[in-house]
Amino acid sequence: MPKHKKAKPQAKHDKEPRLSTRGIPSRVCVACGGDTFKVLVRLDEDNKIGWWTLSGYCARPDCGTAVTLPCPHTEDAHADD
Ligand SMILES: [Zn+2]
Repeated sequence: MPKHKKAKPQAKHDKEPRLSTRGIPSRVCVACGGDTFKVLVRLDEDNKIGWWTLSGYCARPDCGTAVTLPCPHTEDAHADD
């Protein structure tokens, strides 16, 4: 007789859904106050940050809230004239 399949226990980080604060640009995590985030980043030839995403996640392993970071560009980058 085939054994009954036991349901696999969910991974720890799947127990609670991550909070999302997307659309609310902030330098700190709204959920935990953390100031370090996981984003995508690209470096230029001088090893300076050339490009990065504003959408990321709080880096605290017990938080992981989806965040939107404020636009870091200077006013010159937004000049419309
Ligand atoms: Zn957080």
